[in-house]
Amino acid sequence: MSTTPTLVAAMATDVGRVREHNEDSAMAEGTLFVVADGMGGHQAGEVASQIAVETLRQLSGRSGLRPRDLVEQVKAANRAILTSAAQHPEQTGMATTLSGLAAVMVEGSEHWAVFNIGDSRVYRLVDGQLAQVSVDHSEVADLVRIGAITEDEAKVHPARNLVTRCLGRDPLEPVDTWVFRPQPGERFLVCSDGLTNELDVPEIAEVLAADDDPQVVADTLVARAVRAGGRDNVTVVVVFVQGDLPAEVGEQAVPR
Ligand code: MG
Repeated sequence: MSTTPTLVAAMATDVGRVREHNEDSAMAEGTLFVVADGMGGHQAGEVASQIAVETLRQLSGRSGLRPRDLVEQVKAANRAILTSAAQHPEQTGMATTLSGLAAVMVEGSEHWAVFNIGDSRVYRLVDGQLAQVSVDHSEVADLVRIGAITEDEAKVHPARNLVTRCLGRDPLEPVDTWVFRPQPGERFLVCSDGLTNELDVPEIAEVLAADDDPQVVADTLVARAVRAGGRDNVTVVVVFVQGDLPAEVGEQAVPR
């Protein structure tokens, strides 16, 4: 017997211990989960991340979403940020990362789509293993990829905040997407770099698995990142899949 899986989600954010303003924005609604980390002077980063999240929010509640709908909406968010910056000189150059997770339909069956531009991240926890789904668009990520620095060195590198792709730029660099089948019991984390620069992967995995209440998990992740230094705004959205998946999906995902 299988029952329709239910999603439970929660979010948490904190300005941290160094920054004066929280320029991160986030949303968790239905089957759409988004985090954006804004950049720009005079609190324009906050404006950019909010425009990005609110533009994506227009897709929430829409059924039969396809991966390309997400990409088109990210492009719309980029245009909205550029339009606002053109109308308000103090917003010139404002930008934002955008990372998200959404349920999509692919060839008639439900899949997950992850989308990303910038260095916020989407992680997936399956069978106790935490994996980063998204790929960072940042100078330090490129340095790690070519073996010039380690992951630990990247966290304290002077260029750690320099993203190589973001929203608020014309032309827009490509938005990455990943599409995959759901797995029973999986958990997701969408977060800004204020979390991942403070906590390592084993600790994130431990906290993500430690409680069945997503709000407890979200609050614990943020509290630990702030305690560890809180050098940046910290924002997390956690998503838990509860219950069995539909039979045809479950059978492919888990051999019985
Ligand atoms: Mg940040």
